[in-house]
Amino acid sequence: MVWRGPMASQALEQLIMQTRWQDLDYLIVDMPPGTGDIQLTLAQKVPLAGAVIVTTPQDIALIDAKKGIKMFEKVGVPILGLIENMAVHVCNACGHIEHIFGADGGRKMAQEYGLNWLGALPLSMDIRQQADSGRPTVVATPDSPAAQLYRDIAIKLAAQVALRAKDFSAKFPTITISKDT
Ligand SMILES: [Zn+2]
Repeated sequence: MVWRGPMASQALEQLIMQTRWQDLDYLIVDMPPGTGDIQLTLAQKVPLAGAVIVTTPQDIALIDAKKGIKMFEKVGVPILGLIENMAVHVCNACGHIEHIFGADGGRKMAQEYGLNWLGALPLSMDIRQQADSGRPTVVATPDSPAAQLYRDIAIKLAAQVALRAKDFSAKFPTITISKDT
């Protein structure tokens, strides 16, 4: 669908507020990149436990990730950590590993911004095929090294949420928009 920001924001709000979510442990919303209406709506209208920044290692992606970090800081949403996606390419033919987007961009950024480093995921044909076929890697090949990477990230993330649970007062942030921001 082609929607303007306000319509997309409304649809997101409706989806989150008017769905009969069953006994959820966590509700994770995968956001498109950017710092637009959708991200702001989520930050304003939904009591978030926190945000997770996912970035690829190259500079141009890191610039976007930095904007995201700034936005969530501004609206008072804690950042639970940073995940580097497509950190390395694993060759399907010989298994050799290549840093096609550069090495450690996300890890360095996490250090620079004092964020928790949650882990790195490879650019892998298996992960892509499994996800596209509706059986994510942790289901399709639970004993694979890639599935272990996902579990490690999930455990670190759950720990971050648990650590912050005390502050979970469903307090809505105050958003101020001025010409200089
Ligand atoms: Zn190869």
